[in-house]
Amino acid sequence: MNALLSIRAVEKSFGGVHALGPVDIEIGPGERLGLIGPNGSGKTTLINCITGLFRPDHGVIIFKGIDITNEPAYRRARRGLSRSFQIPCPFAGMTVLENLLVPMDYLKKDSRDEIERADEVLQSVSLASRRNDPAEALSQLELRKLELARALVAEPDILIADEAMAGLSEAEIDDILSLLFRLNQAGVTVVMIEHIMHAVMSFSERVICLQTGMIIAEGAPSEVAGNAAVQKVYFGE
Ligand code: ADP
Ligand code: MG
Repeated sequence: MNALLSIRAVEKSFGGVHALGPVDIEIGPGERLGLIGPNGSGKTTLINCITGLFRPDHGVIIFKGIDITNEPAYRRARRGLSRSFQIPCPFAGMTVLENLLVPMDYLKKDSRDEIERADEVLQSVSLASRRNDPAEALSQLELRKLELARALVAEPDILIADEAMAGLSEAEIDDILSLLFRLNQAGVTVVMIEHIMHAVMSFSERVICLQTGMIIAEGAPSEVAGNAAVQKVYFGE
């Protein structure tokens, strides 16, 4: 496999807390990868290291053959590495459209009209009708979609969605799932970090389970779901 993203021996500590690693993960172009693990197992820390919010203490991150380990987050985003945040924090006092234009200002990807591109993204997440509404008027589902839209204006090669379905109803989960499937069919590699087991298992081609910062299982969804160590973490002895 010619990896799109390689995470090699990445480790991160916070003071005395060893939050992550060492972990090695190779992600192929077009893949749908699920990342699971209990609270505090290091999922968000891993994403923060990949996207440049944190600098890993050790290890290397290679994206499209380029060592990005020490690049700032905005440069990684310009290269096509995008993430959505676990807790949506839209800019209050701004409309839905304006919430997309702010990150685009940092991207400076091409000369295409930014408003046109933002409108396309709003269409693709079914938020076009909310374009001129204040972000604080959105429902939970719409906030989740806006959070994804903010990641998508970068026209990413890889989207890392950190718990994009938390707190949603079954029908709303299906809505986000089909959105992520559509993106993947359009060629975007998707990493789904998720606690909602049936969602992550149905979406992913491969699943990785973290516990206390280490990979304890990796494989097809059915293999990982049936793995004894994973079952112990989720269901006890
Ligand atoms: P997950 O996303 O799997 O719930 P996290 O990556 O958020 O796990 O957390 C992994 C560990 O790192 C936890 O022990 C958490 O308390 C710690 N941690 C995460 N971020 C920070 C931070 N910014 N400062 C200190 N400790 C942190
Ligand atoms: Mg997390």
